[in-house]
Amino acid sequence: MDTGHTTRAPTAEGAAVSVLLPLPIVAPYDYLVPPGMTLEEGSFVQVPLGARLATGVVWGPGQGDIDPEKLREISGVLDLPPMPEDLRRFVDWVAGYTLARRGGVLRMAMSVPRALDAPKTVIEYGMAPGVDEKSESLPGGARLTDARRRVLGMLGSGRTKTAVDIAKAAGTSASVVRGLADAGALLAVTRTEDSSVPQPDPHRCGPDLSDTQSAAACELVKAADEGYSVTLLDGVTGSGKTEVYFEAIAAVLGAGRQVAVLLPEIALTADWLGRFEMRFGVPPVAWHSDLPMTLRARNWRAVVRGDARLVVGARSALMLPYHDLGLIVVDEEHDPSFKQEDGVIYNARDMAVVRGHISDVPVVLASATPSLESVNNVWRGRYRRLSLPERFAQASLPEISPIDMRAEQMDSQSWISPTLEAATRQALSAGEQVMMFLNRRGYAPLTLCRACGHRLDCPQCTAWLVEHRLQDRLQCHHCGYSASLPKTCPSCDAEDRFTACGPGVERLAEEVRHRFPDVRLEIMSSDTVYRATETQALVRRMAEREIDMLIGTQIMAKGFHFPLLTLVGVIDADLGLSGGDLRAAERTYQLLHQVAGRAGREGRQGRVLLQTFEPEHPVMQALTGGDRDGFMEAEAASRRQHSMPPYGRLAAVIVSGRNEVAVDETANQLGRSAPRYDGVTVLGPAPAPIPVVRGRHRRRLLVRAAKDVSVQEVLRPWVFGHKPKGGVKIAVDIDPYSFT
Ligand code: ADP
Ligand code: ZN
Repeated sequence: MDTGHTTRAPTAEGAAVSVLLPLPIVAPYDYLVPPGMTLEEGSFVQVPLGARLATGVVWGPGQGDIDPEKLREISGVLDLPPMPEDLRRFVDWVAGYTLARRGGVLRMAMSVPRALDAPKTVIEYGMAPGVDEKSESLPGGARLTDARRRVLGMLGSGRTKTAVDIAKAAGTSASVVRGLADAGALLAVTRTEDSSVPQPDPHRCGPDLSDTQSAAACELVKAADEGYSVTLLDGVTGSGKTEVYFEAIAAVLGAGRQVAVLLPEIALTADWLGRFEMRFGVPPVAWHSDLPMTLRARNWRAVVRGDARLVVGARSALMLPYHDLGLIVVDEEHDPSFKQEDGVIYNARDMAVVRGHISDVPVVLASATPSLESVNNVWRGRYRRLSLPERFAQASLPEISPIDMRAEQMDSQSWISPTLEAATRQALSAGEQVMMFLNRRGYAPLTLCRACGHRLDCPQCTAWLVEHRLQDRLQCHHCGYSASLPKTCPSCDAEDRFTACGPGVERLAEEVRHRFPDVRLEIMSSDTVYRATETQALVRRMAEREIDMLIGTQIMAKGFHFPLLTLVGVIDADLGLSGGDLRAAERTYQLLHQVAGRAGREGRQGRVLLQTFEPEHPVMQALTGGDRDGFMEAEAASRRQHSMPPYGRLAAVIVSGRNEVAVDETANQLGRSAPRYDGVTVLGPAPAPIPVVRGRHRRRLLVRAAKDVSVQEVLRPWVFGHKPKGGVKIAVDIDPYSFT
């Protein structure tokens, strides 16, 4: 097999090689190559580590920093193609940029324990010759029971599956399947697990593209053949961005190369998987944290062997050992969930561009509301832009209007304005569907005691507990702490005096039920749909009009296509604007624009109503006036003026620990020893906006630097020169996104 890998390491007997282990370590360790062992750079090897064996990757020649007499020997080589050179360089690069430990980054590329074991063989069953799903009799006159009929019916001809899978799909037991095999109606075949990744067919026809779509697709297909480039596919919601980049995917698959598609959340994947299957005949290889371990192992092996042609997944799909990567697509590139906030802190969108550069492959960033970072790169001529300014077919963009809440007559404890109520009534009576958006989970964000004013808060965090009536619990959204509502106030002992303040989606649903008693209503939030299958079920019911109204949080904002949805009501459009987040305005714009994009996706005109107390705010003006570019330019001007990203660099140093005194001591020491360079300002330490999370106190220092300063070089000696006191952790966040 051609692994696309050419550099071979010297493997002279007795030579030393360095091996990087997927552990929180900074550098590879040297090991000796035992007599008779052949290795390449990138080989997966087992090495002794203390008293146990660990699996790692040959990173290069030995570094020679340890007395050769003391080196231990590599124990074995795994039967896998070596980790490609571009991925190894990428691991080094990511570690260098994020200041994470190299072993920690490697871990993301190989953290699938079972994948590294030899593949298991499995027995699968398929129809025996002469038998098909319509057979009325079985070979040798065996009885055809209902259960047996179901098995034959679901198996179809030409397919093989394991007894367990067949039984599950047919609603029977595996022994029925084996019984059919004993009777000669099914044939058993032995397969190694790896061979079962379905192969997409790049030659199937896609839909007929419009002229604008074809022009964009043509450009992407051309780019797909020309090595590294970045294209921003900038198209309004519903313009057919997916169809367009599918053409580029088809071209790359047709050339026999691999494609990685990154999507923000599993919510979108459900819909996307179906569309991919329609276009390419088989489901793609998925990669996300929801996958069962065995499937992850299979998929990982399929990637490293090159059998997995297309992988779609969350951010970690970027770290997989593709051996012949030909294209990277990042859909909804503006989405904040591409930023990983724990472990190795990195932004998968940015790293996708880096990987594209290192692997010399094109990168496509798609969005209806591109990030200022990407737009700025278009302005600077680093990225090319392809625009799809119109919705596909007859669909037109929704009309977005503000509802000035200062002028609405509102009852207390009610959140739906008369204007929104009237519009909802109108849409429902026309047989159309409605969506109400409120980005707040649960019933109410705050519960307080009417007797003494005490607020119920989390014992482990500086945060209020959120009431979730559906689960009958109070929950902390920062640490997951949960408790039932106490009988008496913990502060004044008053009984049953608690009152809910403010709305969450559950409370909004209560109001809707009160105002529209007959409406068929569902809530869509991470509390009501956990799994991709649940999302899929809800989306199907909405699409088939079993639901009149969806009330939901941001998980509802993305990707979904509901033909009869014509009205979107945003309950608290100002919600995301408060707080000191650098990107508050940009994000609110993006989120509300995405939500608005759900309305009127087919023939009927869509309408979006934004309940706001600040209709004159630039974000509301840009949304209602449809002036995205003007908004982005104003946003850019303000960031430039303050030398904020993308016009300056930002890094956060977060000091945390259980012992507040020790945390303060370390943070203050860092503050005192802050580097003094031209063009670098260190702010803080200051308590993080949520000062205590999970019982850990958090202090933050912010480093602001001019664009041409390497913040890594500033941070490395300063931060790593500190030995924090017991239990205190120092984390570095380059290009921070979250300011909680
Ligand atoms: P976007 O990703 O820009 O929001 P999609 O690719 O999801 O847009 O397209 C929106 C809808 O229009 C989808 O249902 C898609 O199948 C449909 N569509 C887009 N382009 C075409 C086309 N050329 N032919 C048929 N259907 C199309
Ligand atoms: Zn908490």
